[in-house]
Amino acid sequence: MKTLGLIGGMSWESTAHYYTRINQLVAQRLGGLHSAQLLLYSIEFDALQKLQHADDWRGAARLLVDAARRLARAGADGLVICANTMHRVAPEIEAAVQLPLIHVADATAQAIKHKGLQTVALLGTRFTMENDFYRERLQHRHGLRVSIPDEAERRTLHRIIFEELCKGELRTDSQEIFYRIIARLGAAGAEGAILGCTEFTLFGVAEKSAIPLFDTTEIHARAAVAWALGDNP
Ligand code: GLU
Repeated sequence: MKTLGLIGGMSWESTAHYYTRINQLVAQRLGGLHSAQLLLYSIEFDALQKLQHADDWRGAARLLVDAARRLARAGADGLVICANTMHRVAPEIEAAVQLPLIHVADATAQAIKHKGLQTVALLGTRFTMENDFYRERLQHRHGLRVSIPDEAERRTLHRIIFEELCKGELRTDSQEIFYRIIARLGAAGAEGAILGCTEFTLFGVAEKSAIPLFDTTEIHARAAVAWALGDNP
């Protein structure tokens, strides 16, 4: 089994899900007392989120490159960034550390295409919804059509992520808003919705959704396990 290097702490709430799911999936595959072989480096999130909100992506890249180097030195065979937003600096990490990086957008695109869908809505932080790094990868590398929520919806989702979900707060009114936004995007033509923030997994009740959901935490954890077990070297 290969050793996964997890860059986590963005937030630790969702990293805990990654850790649980990766271990559960390895145990399901191998049975008995098998568990994942992994290293976890957990970032101090307040420092990172300040850089994100100050639009200081170079500073944010430095933090993640430092984490990636520590994991490489400790013996990781491949890297998993346990967040969607910070894939914005995936190219800087790949340039600094010569390790394979299991990219969340690639794994998610595979899952969407596997379901035969072509048009999807992308929900996440403002950084993920509004910047090019994620949408363009889905569009240009994977041929998907991607829509995003409107300005007011984006503001609401961003607020819910940072003020509630990253603190482990699960509010039913926010969950209702979340599913209303997904339903509106579905009515506007999206065939599925990407839960493009790893904290959205806390909301993930598929039965409440009008359209299929693609939970990036689950998809990414599965891709990481498949890679670690050598399914797709
Ligand atoms: N976990 C997050 C994501 O998947 C959001 C937190 C962050 O901004 O890093 O994008």
